[in-house]
Amino acid sequence: MGYLETSNGKWEIVIGLEVHAQVISNSKLFSSASTQFGASPNENVSFVDAALPGILPVINSFCVDQAIKTGLGLNGTINLVSFFDRKNYFYADLPQGYQISQFKYPIISGGYIEIEKENGDAKKINIERIHIEQDAGKCIHDQNPTKSYIDLNRAGIALMEIVTKPDMRNADEASKFLRKLRSILRYLKTCDGNMDEASMRADLNISMHRPETELGTRAEIKNVNSIKFLMTAIDFEVRRQIEILESGGKIEQETRLFDSTTGETRPMRSKEDAHDYRYFPDPDLPPLVLEQSRVDAIRQTLPELPDAKTERLQRNYGLSHYDACLISSEIELADFYEKSLESSKCNDKDIAKTLSNWIIGELFAFLNKHNKNITQSNISPENLGELVVLIKTNVISGKIAKDIFEIMWETQKKPSDIIEEKGWKQITNSDEIKTVIIQLLDENPEKVAEYKNGKEKLFGFFVGQIMKKTAGKANPQLLNEILHKILDN
Ligand code: ADP
Ligand code: MG
Repeated sequence: MGYLETSNGKWEIVIGLEVHAQVISNSKLFSSASTQFGASPNENVSFVDAALPGILPVINSFCVDQAIKTGLGLNGTINLVSFFDRKNYFYADLPQGYQISQFKYPIISGGYIEIEKENGDAKKINIERIHIEQDAGKCIHDQNPTKSYIDLNRAGIALMEIVTKPDMRNADEASKFLRKLRSILRYLKTCDGNMDEASMRADLNISMHRPETELGTRAEIKNVNSIKFLMTAIDFEVRRQIEILESGGKIEQETRLFDSTTGETRPMRSKEDAHDYRYFPDPDLPPLVLEQSRVDAIRQTLPELPDAKTERLQRNYGLSHYDACLISSEIELADFYEKSLESSKCNDKDIAKTLSNWIIGELFAFLNKHNKNITQSNISPENLGELVVLIKTNVISGKIAKDIFEIMWETQKKPSDIIEEKGWKQITNSDEIKTVIIQLLDENPEKVAEYKNGKEKLFGFFVGQIMKKTAGKANPQLLNEILHKILDN
């Protein structure tokens, strides 16, 4: 099942991820400096972040609340007592000479995310732990030929490190895990999941072994900052490791770097020269002790999460599983959908489905074409909701709705105003339709005779002609009914 087969037999891929997620918070983990992205270099640096002598870190309780919320959202256990440790290493962008992190006693243990495998089955990916730690600063090497610069804006920003068990078995599962994790964190509003701005980045642990045998030695790949890169890095590593193993070699436990321009990984450091971080409890910080009541209060604030929303959209509105998953996958999209639905003031399943079709079809196409995301949509949820109601109540036809949609995109006008302006209201008055039909039939006596002699295909011709005469405004159902009544008598 799902094994990789070469001429030398079967292999199983084993993957575990360590995801760094930047906590959404206005200020840093142990200082009051701002976390604003895009500030000029060293604008957001306090004495704490610059590690001036004599300073003391003070825990930002909002960041702790965010970690608790994340732990609850990922089905983890919140540890009421956890500790901060110093992870010692020297680097120019780390003025303290150590990173404050959590080692033996993290704030969260356990948890899981459910993903859907390629065959549609659900699979739990278990989470080992989540701890909170400081981010480091950044060295800038490309602004001066002889000098490197240091920007400490990022130094001290709160990160959550989410470590999974080695539960993933291929690139598809790993990318689905990362997507789902990102989606949940964005629902929780604890991390913005913006991989371009490095607010979420993953280290990939990967090994190969023969099925039903012990796990193999893993390589850890740093620097994987998009889902596409994750898939590329996995493909590359699988090939590299199989080649070594099948030619009788051994995998070194080492840290490798992913190069996004070549799609390859290359050695960074081996286990032999792996850092000994000499972790020890940070003497400047007391144990992090939480009241159960604080955890309970945060649990009360948890929003409906993607899986629950998917299920509700299927159950209440009859959306297909595929459509419900798609709408729920991004919080802004789900909000757009539900706002539209609310403004249509109607709990009708038919409207709910039509609305999701218009979002997934027409709106996605327009957003794509204009390179926009749902929050930048030119069409408001309210206007789209109104459009769908107008279609469903037969005020306009689906065809005219597409024209209105385009005008709405360009002008941001309400659909009812556009209909008014253009005179596009559907003709739903039977007498009016009847008059047009009779006029047409009078003009085409031979065709009517042919129809009556059995050439039933001509029905479509009549419908087309009447639509032409009414500029597409005749209500199709009424037109059908009346035309049948007149012709078939
Ligand atoms: P360390 O403490 O050395 O970083 P961990 O046991 O915490 O090691 O594991 C780190 C990551 O590596 C986790 O995401 C885990 O799932 C993954 N991992 C552990 N063993 C393997 C393996 N044999 N193959 C692939 N991934 C693994
Ligand atoms: Mg690790």
